[in-house]
Amino acid sequence: MEVKDQQFQIQGVSLIDLAQEYGTPLYVYDGEKILEKVKLLQKSFSGVNLKIKYATKALSNINILKLMKKAGTGVDAVSIEEVKLCQYAGFEPHEIMYTPNSVSFEEIQEAVALGVMINIDNIPMLEHFGTYFGNKVPICIRLNPHILAGGNAKISVGHIDSKFGISILQLKHVLKVVEAHNLHVIGLHIHTGSDILDAEVFLRGANIVFDAAREFKGLKFLDFGGGFKVAYKPDDISTDIEEVGAKVSQAFKVFCKEYGTDLEIWFEPGKFLVSESGYLLAKVNVVKPTPASTFVGVDTGLNHLIRPMMYDAYHGVINISKLDGPERIYTIVGYICETDTIAADRKLKEVQEGDILAIKNAGAYGYSMASNYNSRLRPAEVLILNSKANLIRERETFEDILRHQLDIGL
Ligand SMILES: *Cc1c(COP(=O)(O)O)cnc(C)c1O
Repeated sequence: MEVKDQQFQIQGVSLIDLAQEYGTPLYVYDGEKILEKVKLLQKSFSGVNLKIKYATKALSNINILKLMKKAGTGVDAVSIEEVKLCQYAGFEPHEIMYTPNSVSFEEIQEAVALGVMINIDNIPMLEHFGTYFGNKVPICIRLNPHILAGGNAKISVGHIDSKFGISILQLKHVLKVVEAHNLHVIGLHIHTGSDILDAEVFLRGANIVFDAAREFKGLKFLDFGGGFKVAYKPDDISTDIEEVGAKVSQAFKVFCKEYGTDLEIWFEPGKFLVSESGYLLAKVNVVKPTPASTFVGVDTGLNHLIRPMMYDAYHGVINISKLDGPERIYTIVGYICETDTIAADRKLKEVQEGDILAIKNAGAYGYSMASNYNSRLRPAEVLILNSKANLIRERETFEDILRHQLDIGL
């Protein structure tokens, strides 16, 4: 985003104009930014057979999925609904990785019928699968490498007491089940969590997968999940993707040589690809000085962006209505009847009622985690591509709040 003609713009499109045209709150995505991230990732892993499986759950609008498809990625889906959404957006079954947790066997069977790659997350499911499908359907196995990593306990999923994946300590058991049912295992997977900074953590994970992979014949790919850290604060460091790319690619090449097959290396980034592309625009309803702080109350809240309250996430905020003048300290809060602080003690250009604030890094886990709490409507979404703003989701209406409710005539 740049300051030009006294307006905050993305690809020459003014955000203030968008707020006026489509109303607030409004999610806006910079399509070029997403494409730039895909290219950066592709470039960082040159020399290996990289497949990017975009983590659909981060931002699942079908137009974003189509954009990923155009950019040459595949997708990772964590529910049967996401699988169907990806197919709707044009992904072929072989481009879709299905990584469910705690789902029913019926849902797995449905995914098999749709022809997508199944990632098995627990031993009982592996046994069911073997009994039912034997070696007829190729599978991937999700391992838990027990690496404690990630920015927040709620997004750290690879530790010893995590519900995700099959413990690496149970590998012998896994191998027994695989042998007993003659299972056709073509991939191994780990996803250790979100906001992992360090190339060394990815390397540690990779080495654990390599060790496990030596026990399997006929593998086609190894999947190292997502979790690249994105800079949210101005002075935050993000994963040095080029460093991770260089180090992991090097280790991967050495392993492939030893294994005797040129395997595919898969990653499933969500946040990395879409976080920075997104802005949530909100209008200031009230500026409320109190003895402790000056609150800025806006027309959105944890119903539309839950990350600050759920993960203590930091999101940058700018007053895009005010380019000059003095700055003051504010605490930006939502309109939900619940403490929903979006950003505490932030310096903004002096805020007045009616100003438009842009909440940054709102692309990932923003709209996709939005709800109707307080019976509020979910916002519209706009995607800017080739310097053109496209409405990709209409704002909800009051009818949407009533939809599916049955009035039993009381
Ligand atoms: C959520 C998730 C991802 C993406 O994580 P990010 O932190 O957004 O990169 C990747 N793989 C799986 C299995 C996931 O559940």
